Amino acid sequence: MKLNTKKLKPWLNKFWDNPPACMICKNEDWALLERICELTEYNLNSSQGILTVPIVVFACSNCGYIISFSAIALGVVEKQETDNLT
Ligand SMILES: [Zn+2]
Repeated sequence: MKLNTKKLKPWLNKFWDNPPACMICKNEDWALLERICELTEYNLNSSQGILTVPIVVFACSNCGYIISFSAIALGVVEKQETDNLT
């Protein structure tokens, strides 16, 4: 799902004005993936009824280390959009 970067602006202004240094290489330049991704519950026996968590992903532009945030907490996905997945 494409990330609506306009909805992300308030969070970026509040938390990403001064981005953290990468914990691996200390670089401070991050690439925002303009797609909403998801974390998926591990389930050995079934692919149905699995919990997913929508996430926003940043990748270090130097070493590729990835960090992610809850897309719901960042305000880019409404909570009810995910309720049918639980
Ligand atoms: Zn890095």
